[in-house]
Amino acid sequence: MKEDWMRLAQGRDKADPLTAFGERFEHPPGPGGRTATYLCGHSLGLLPRAARTLVEEEFDDWSQYGVEAHTRARRPWVSYHEQLTPLLARVVGAREDEVVAMNSLTTNLHLMMVSFYRPTPERHAIVIEKGAFPSDRYAVVSQLEYHGYDAEDALIEIAPREGQSCVRTEDIETVLAREGERVALVLWPGVQYLSGQAFDLARIAGAGHGVGAMVGFDLAHAVGNLALQLHDSEADFAVWCSYKYLNGGPGAPGGCFVHQRHAHEFSGPRFAGWWGHDKAERFAMEPDFVPIPSAEAWQLSNPPVFALAPLLASLRIFDEAGMSALRQRAESLTGTLYDALAVELGDAIEILTPEAPAERGCQLSIRVLRERDTARALFNELTASGVIADWREPGIIRFAPVPLYNTHADCARAVTALREALYDAD
Ligand SMILES: *Cc1c(COP(=O)(O)O)cnc(C)c1O
Repeated sequence: MKEDWMRLAQGRDKADPLTAFGERFEHPPGPGGRTATYLCGHSLGLLPRAARTLVEEEFDDWSQYGVEAHTRARRPWVSYHEQLTPLLARVVGAREDEVVAMNSLTTNLHLMMVSFYRPTPERHAIVIEKGAFPSDRYAVVSQLEYHGYDAEDALIEIAPREGQSCVRTEDIETVLAREGERVALVLWPGVQYLSGQAFDLARIAGAGHGVGAMVGFDLAHAVGNLALQLHDSEADFAVWCSYKYLNGGPGAPGGCFVHQRHAHEFSGPRFAGWWGHDKAERFAMEPDFVPIPSAEAWQLSNPPVFALAPLLASLRIFDEAGMSALRQRAESLTGTLYDALAVELGDAIEILTPEAPAERGCQLSIRVLRERDTARALFNELTASGVIADWREPGIIRFAPVPLYNTHADCARAVTALREALYDAD
């Protein structure tokens, strides 16, 4: 090693009071009785210790009250999701009436497209990034086809320039300036899942609105990661899942943002369910739907209490730490990892994620400059050494030092392990 990264890292950890938050989470064991170096929060966040208590309490209240727990539980089930609302609103920079925790990401994306993808014969194209997460592309193409359009003509995919791994925002603007008249919806990621590139959401929303399109964001990799300002971004809608940086656990209920200008009064189409109906009158069981004047109007069903409990535990921790402090620590963590990778492994890897802190979140994606099988073996060795990252074809390793529970020392350990694996392989 050219520098003593571990000493540097330990100094940074010691100086940062947020380091203590790591103890609020359960870290998986690694080899040799040590704790694993878990850098996979972009895929599944760690378990907040408090989640066990919150779930256990719901068992107790169910046992104690049966159906009456809907109103008598310590956190009444009828309005359980409402406890997450202010916490979520602060995490994404929204008003409380703009957010709701519900469903899964892809379900929410479909519900939002029902309301905000309103194609006409002249204007029906959808803009997404080339190489979008498959579920998003499936959802978009199926919506196009549902309305009788063909992806061949109506799906506009924007790719990075030749030989580059990231998309330039001016290229999105150029495409919109050229194709804008036929674009009904721009669906863009907050952070691209593979490259780790973060985008200026307000600028993209401005470009989309400038040509008369609706603009929605997929925040799967941005929520709980970037210091989002969703309300100010002017986005029409956004969706996310909660098992990545939000630590809600596998398949945890996702979230949805609907901008205030639509949330209060919406005359467009909506797939409705009884949990979107006016709360005061919900149990009057009247036949006609009266929407709640908030993002909750898009809810279909009563809240999954057991699935929301771990998410509530995690959001409380976010609230204590604060998104802007977390973001600052994330820049320090990712900066440490970036520098150590570049200095120690610079000629053996390519870092795909932008170098500028404003253009990335927690995640750094690298490509190992070796044959695919050699690179894969190297990744396996990294895993065996107790560093948990993930592998995505073609030959990309993603690391995410997460500010709530990772340390600068984790970053140093990952680079050391990768270097050792590389030299073994050579
Ligand atoms: C993780 C992820 C999803 C997952 O979708 P689910 O409906 O929660 O299974 C979708 N889109 C993107 C971009 C993701 O990163």
